[in-house]
Amino acid sequence: MDSNKLRHLFLTHLCQTSTEPIGLEVASAEGCTITDTTGRRHLDFISGIGVANVGHRHPAVLAAIREQLDHYLHVMVYGEYLQAPQIELAAQLASIAPPPLSVTYFTNSGAEAVEGALKAARKFTGRSVFVAFDRSYHGDTFGAMSVMGRPELRKPYEPLVPMARFLPWNEPDALGGPDGINEQVAAVIMEPIQAEGGVRLPSDEFLKAVRARCTAAGALLLMDEVVTGFGRTGRRFAVEHWGVTPDMLILAKAMGGGLPLGGFLGRPDVMAALSHDPPLSHLTTFGGHPLSCAAGLAALRVMIDQRLEQAAAQAGRRLMDGIAGLCGRGGLMTVRGLGLLIGMEFDTPAHCERFVRRCRDAGLLLGWTLHEDRVVRLAPPLVLSPDELGEGLSRMNRALG
Ligand code: PMP
Repeated sequence: MDSNKLRHLFLTHLCQTSTEPIGLEVASAEGCTITDTTGRRHLDFISGIGVANVGHRHPAVLAAIREQLDHYLHVMVYGEYLQAPQIELAAQLASIAPPPLSVTYFTNSGAEAVEGALKAARKFTGRSVFVAFDRSYHGDTFGAMSVMGRPELRKPYEPLVPMARFLPWNEPDALGGPDGINEQVAAVIMEPIQAEGGVRLPSDEFLKAVRARCTAAGALLLMDEVVTGFGRTGRRFAVEHWGVTPDMLILAKAMGGGLPLGGFLGRPDVMAALSHDPPLSHLTTFGGHPLSCAAGLAALRVMIDQRLEQAAAQAGRRLMDGIAGLCGRGGLMTVRGLGLLIGMEFDTPAHCERFVRRCRDAGLLLGWTLHEDRVVRLAPPLVLSPDELGEGLSRMNRALG
């Protein structure tokens, strides 16, 4: 179809989520590159967002999808039949997750995984309160929005799920007290690194302090690794950096190797809460679709076999070193991150916006963070080659000029 017509239909018939969509007309994608319909190749440093950890259309993922296509697609709502792709993926996840996290409930997305984890926490503990952190992001369904640490984004949709409390990030002293993590709290939900919050890293003690408070109060710790999981930060799961074991890991994005897949992975006793009193009180039709699980299993094997978390750690260091050398130009103030989840902080939103636009014009895709308009986030595929990394840096250098 003619480009102008396609663009017109896009704006007319696809519900718009902003007034300025990026509007790239995609022809194909491979590895770290997206090619548009004019034949122009764009280096993808955002992985749409944080999904293509193994790169776009990884051959092992494509082969697994083809293989599964020849057997079956959807056959039954989740949790009733034995479907090898789901079972093998759950077992593989259990083998790499911190013990005793060994039981997975599969969903289609991150927000659904958050919903399920919150529900399981209420059911297991019999408590009502959720604690989250300022500037958090956990998805856009009602439950997930209820624990989003940004009042102006919550406001238009209120009333949300009641009993959510928000605590400041990186302030261990604020965790206790009558409005903190106490005996009323079913669960604390947090990202190990706040991605939409502007790539905000925890201090060395923060996660450990939250864990200790949760244990003391009998509250569950739900770690949202939707962005940080699957090698992104230089470890398979980011919690490994701080030696903290949550009661649940919440996963999505890179989990399906490019197909929609999420899940929450928990302690067997916690996850058992969903099977009784009453049974069938947390169901999904498509969660853990066999095609997504086959793709996800292939992607996970690629991550394990190729030690992509180590590749991310190395490439992340090089990229951050390179960006550190650009600070002071074009309003760029600082760079921070872990592995290949990197935030570049600008002095003003205007400089930040100009940088993103210029990069895009130069064929380098990257993005803002939702809660922080002075921070650009980089999350390239973990299979980024040294040449691609160098090319990305040189395009950033020019965009700052
Ligand atoms: N948690 C975090 C930390 C996220 O960044 C996101 C999405 N950006 C979600 C949950 C929600 O995932 P989804 O968009 O798949 O619902």
